[in-house]
Amino acid sequence: MSSHNSQKKIVIVGGGFAGLASAAYLQQADKTLDITLIDRKEYHLFVPALTEYLGGYIDKKKITFPLKETLEKNNIRFVKGTFKAISPQKKEIAIEGHHFPYDYAVLALGSETNTFGIQGILEYTSGLKCISDADSIKKKIKDVCTTKKEISVAVIGGGITGVQLAAYLRPHLSKNYPQHAVSFTILDGAPRLLKELPEDVSKKIEDYFLNQKINMLFNAKVTKIEYHKIRLGERSVPADIIIWVAGVRPPKIIEKCGVAATPKGIIVDEYFRSITDQFVYAVGDCIAFQDETLEKGWVRRAQNAHKHARIVAANIIADIQKKEKITFKPTPIPTIVVLPHKAILIQNNHYFQNRLINTLDHCIRYRHMLFYKSRFGRIMRWLF
Ligand SMILES: Cc1cc2nc3c(=O)[nH]c(=O)nc-3n(C[C@H](O)[C@H](O)[C@H](O)COP(=O)(O)OP(=O)(O)OC[C@H]3O[C@@H](n4cnc5c(N)ncnc54)[C@H](O)[C@@H]3O)c2cc1C
Repeated sequence: MSSHNSQKKIVIVGGGFAGLASAAYLQQADKTLDITLIDRKEYHLFVPALTEYLGGYIDKKKITFPLKETLEKNNIRFVKGTFKAISPQKKEIAIEGHHFPYDYAVLALGSETNTFGIQGILEYTSGLKCISDADSIKKKIKDVCTTKKEISVAVIGGGITGVQLAAYLRPHLSKNYPQHAVSFTILDGAPRLLKELPEDVSKKIEDYFLNQKINMLFNAKVTKIEYHKIRLGERSVPADIIIWVAGVRPPKIIEKCGVAATPKGIIVDEYFRSITDQFVYAVGDCIAFQDETLEKGWVRRAQNAHKHARIVAANIIADIQKKEKITFKPTPIPTIVVLPHKAILIQNNHYFQNRLINTLDHCIRYRHMLFYKSRFGRIMRWLF
């Protein structure tokens, strides 16, 4: 990618939903921008389909693509590296061994596992954030099944991720290890699954899980994880494989990276601008709004990461052109809980469940992949 002194330099950290969409919208709005995107991974992942990949329902190629090739096709530079810090004074972003000067920076670092300070989570549980996590869970299952004739799996966390994970992983076990006795349990500290969603939806999922031979344990407050054991105060649940999907938090690095941040995220105003630097924007799972009403009005989801990136791009362009910026106004988004062959769509307090919702979910994924695999500008208008 060529660079002229007059070009504004934009450095984006994170090639997930928020970072990649920011790059695409910026490039589409102004082809003269000098955009660099940094990520520690070489590929973009359609994270919501990770549970389907884990269950063996979908191929890796359908949910990932290489960042370098995709971005360079669109005249955006890709750098593989791990973000270390940002210096708003020098207007530089640091990865190990390199500094990248910027006029505008966008931090889109996503989230990491939240252990809530519970001992043993990092040592004895598996998480599910990327392809290698899914591969490692499958390998652990295979290893247990080669040495024993029974296997016990426990999923901790009854939110959307935990529910989808259990729904896709349980059939994988029956299909691949039909001779094995499987004990499969999902645990949550709440009195029901999907506590953020209407009770009718929880009931539907619970009936479905009973059918699938998935045990459910509610009001289960995890106090410690030990080797093959989940401690719930005085009680304990044994499990060969323990998967922890009970919560995420912004990456710890943001708290000492150079801009105002708390454990909830990089603090931004209604324009997604850091409250301590007008040339640093942040978007996606790694942010927290300074305004409490805004903070309460949104959820950390892929849909929002993509949607908010559009505002970030528009505001950077507005700043360059000295025009008025767009403010963020929270709006409710529909939720799709994807189960094999029977997804549920929830909008406000209404829900719909049938195969068509699965088709809709697949269309959303195809649209996402197709958009990035093509030239952003050409196909953008009718896709988004
Ligand atoms: C298993 C699972 C299922 C989910 N299901 C759904 C769903 O059904 N619907 C939904 O809307 N949402 C779902 N989510 C949530 C959704 O995936 C996130 O809200 C979304 O990915 C957030 O986008 P993001 O760009 O902020 O973060 P991410 O997509 O996580 O991207 C962050 C990027 O930053 C990079 N990065 C992080 N730290 C560094 C660093 N130090 N240096 C360099 N690069 C770094 C990462 O490699 C990554 O590419 C699910 C999440 C999981 C884990």
